[in-house]
Amino acid sequence: MQTKQDIQRLLAGAGLSPNRRLGQNFLIDLNLMKMLADATHLTDQDVALEVGTGTGSFTEELALRAGHVVTIEYDTGLARLAAARLAAFENVTALQGDALESKNALNADVLTAIRTARSQVAGRLLLTANLPYSVGSAVMANLIVGPVIADAMAVTVQKEVADRMVAMPGHDAYGTLSLLMAATGQVHLLRKLPPSVFWPRPQVDSAMVVFERDPKKAAQIHNMATFRQVITLFMGHRRKMLKACVKFAEGTLVHIRHWPTIFEEAFVDPHHRPEELTAADYINIANLCYEQTR
Ligand code: SAH
Repeated sequence: MQTKQDIQRLLAGAGLSPNRRLGQNFLIDLNLMKMLADATHLTDQDVALEVGTGTGSFTEELALRAGHVVTIEYDTGLARLAAARLAAFENVTALQGDALESKNALNADVLTAIRTARSQVAGRLLLTANLPYSVGSAVMANLIVGPVIADAMAVTVQKEVADRMVAMPGHDAYGTLSLLMAATGQVHLLRKLPPSVFWPRPQVDSAMVVFERDPKKAAQIHNMATFRQVITLFMGHRRKMLKACVKFAEGTLVHIRHWPTIFEEAFVDPHHRPEELTAADYINIANLCYEQTR
């Protein structure tokens, strides 16, 4: 782990300075960093995925605990700096690139590195990172939907993203991320973080959030792709009535012949609004949709 002075010295030595656009706010409170690493009970049987290597401060801590660490950094200067520092660790794969291939897919090199690591380390896959704002939500969503699925996540995110992760029906922050998490596991806010725990200080508050997948819960969803399409369709029009949303159906959902039957069989009132429905309601709707479209 690196102090604020360490990070400043490393950046200066490489002729780099923090890039706000890339969300480069380095975590400099080392107790919080330990807390983040502790939160998933990471062991040497697990694979840890970190998005946003930065100068490799948290990566070093993960490498001491995990069986293998896969980390990716978009900024070429930082990626080079981190790779040099992390070369001493045999159990770290440090990649340069965008963590996302597209909004709905993780970087292919990341997927390959995770699969390789998991063939050697039998345990869980854990996302543990001080996530960059721009891609954090999409990275977490993809690790819930698959093809590669995380068993748990412990992340620092902007307060606004934390709110979306834990939001309940009816709340303004309730959306697809809340539903993906509620439908497949348990999520809780570990603690709020003031700007002062980062350098440079971000303009907003942040939070540390923990998500744990519950395989039994997740197994109630018969087809993940359909579930994602269903929640994207309805939460894209969260204040309309459910029955008014269905004309926007895309993908396999265009083949649904009779939506009223689906609402009826799911015991959902079509006059309700998408933001009022629970994860269980959406699982029922999505499973019925899957039956009609498979
Ligand atoms: N883990 C480090 C840095 C966290 S800041 C620490 O806490 O000290 C977030 C990091 O994510 C930055 O280094 C930023 O350059 C990187 N980043 C931003 N967008 C990214 C993307 N699309 N893919 C991978 N890394 C990204």
